[in-house]
Amino acid sequence: MTAIHASAESNPYVQMTQRLDQATGLLELDPGMAAILAEPAHELSVSIPVQMDNGTVRVFTGYRVQHSIARGPAKGGIRYAPDVSLDEVRALAAWMTWKCAVVNVPFGGGKGGIICDPRRMSSGEIERLTRRYTANLLDIIGPERDVPAPDMNTNEQVMAWFMDTYSAHVRATQTAIVTGKPVGLGGSLGRREATGLGVAISAREALRHIGMPNSGCRVVVQGCGNVGGLGAQFIQEMGHKIIAISDIYGAIHNENGLDMPSVLAHLDENRTLEGFPGADRIDGKELLELDCDLLVPAATENQITSENANQIKAKVIVEGANGPTTAAADKVLEDKGVFIVPDILANAGGVTVSYFEWVQDRMGYFWEKKDVFERMERIMVEAFQSVVESAERHKTSPRIGAYCVGVDRVAYCLKIRGLYA
Ligand code: NAD
Repeated sequence: MTAIHASAESNPYVQMTQRLDQATGLLELDPGMAAILAEPAHELSVSIPVQMDNGTVRVFTGYRVQHSIARGPAKGGIRYAPDVSLDEVRALAAWMTWKCAVVNVPFGGGKGGIICDPRRMSSGEIERLTRRYTANLLDIIGPERDVPAPDMNTNEQVMAWFMDTYSAHVRATQTAIVTGKPVGLGGSLGRREATGLGVAISAREALRHIGMPNSGCRVVVQGCGNVGGLGAQFIQEMGHKIIAISDIYGAIHNENGLDMPSVLAHLDENRTLEGFPGADRIDGKELLELDCDLLVPAATENQITSENANQIKAKVIVEGANGPTTAAADKVLEDKGVFIVPDILANAGGVTVSYFEWVQDRMGYFWEKKDVFERMERIMVEAFQSVVESAERHKTSPRIGAYCVGVDRVAYCLKIRGLYA
């Protein structure tokens, strides 16, 4: 593979547009419409000066991209990581647009990110970073305009700071400015578990769809955070066996199955999976290539590529992370007959319950967890069905079938709203 191809394969925005092109082709969309869909509607880059604990000032770079507001306010998380880039945020924002449309919630797509390493920052530094970033975004965010949420390395506390800063500026408490807040501060019951539960529901539907057993499958999970850790726990509760799971430092493996509540308790206490008793330590790369029935990549982008796709042994892949599989890897996996539940469907439980949180904040009336989960499950099952039907109708993969569902719904709104010139 040439260097040029390698960099295109590792660029999430290129990967997104390759899939989008396939979907707009199958939908026979007008080239003008395809061009609108490919471009982010609005991008903001901000410099964020922060006073560090040692008295020095550091200037961080942050982004917020609103890919589309055709169906409603931009919606999507904020990521803190050293390797955040504008193209990554662009891709993540576009995936939010298609994802919200696939589950048919009335949002567009957006995403934010700050280039920083939160593992090397104190809580006070992260708070000051968050508040200044929020202040810098004031002109483009709002409960009716753009509603952020947590993503990698951001959490309920970061959302509370974001909400407090926005509220201080508009002189009123505005809980609906972000989702994924603490439950005592306008958050929704079930939001924390929603993405992981949605991943487990997607896995159940996929196994049923291809006629595999609904219990006893051997499962490998990459990432043990909000999505991977909780997703693995729900999949285990359905009767499957989690034989390996990883975090950024490496993986743990036990053919007899790992007890997920104990794994999560160990991680909570030690901040790493290392040292978990009764499991072998293996490296993260090896994890993806383990013999298993179901693989759940739930860490980050570009994990299954043209380099390792041939070594993947799973029969089903349920993408908890956004963009874990490249377009070149898709082709290899498709040829091997692997059934992939794509990210824009598999991890959509999170944004579905974020939508419920936004609705509850705006009503000032909060639902029981049982209601949240029942409604989310109904939406996920319906979305799975519409994706499978779309893939069959267009004679394509579930991934491109999902793009067709989402892109078609966004294109409809753009068309009916019309160009304003
Ligand atoms: P998180 O920060 O809670 O957990 C991430 C996990 O992945 C951690 O275990 C971390 O150690 C591991 N990890 C990070 N980089 C890694 C790498 N390079 N190699 C191996 N492991 C790595 O994040 P999260 O909220 O669970 O998000 C994970 C993925 O799911 C991201 O792609 C995110 O965009 C996507 N996602 C999250 C949500 C949500 O509600 N949190 C919703 C939809 C999609």
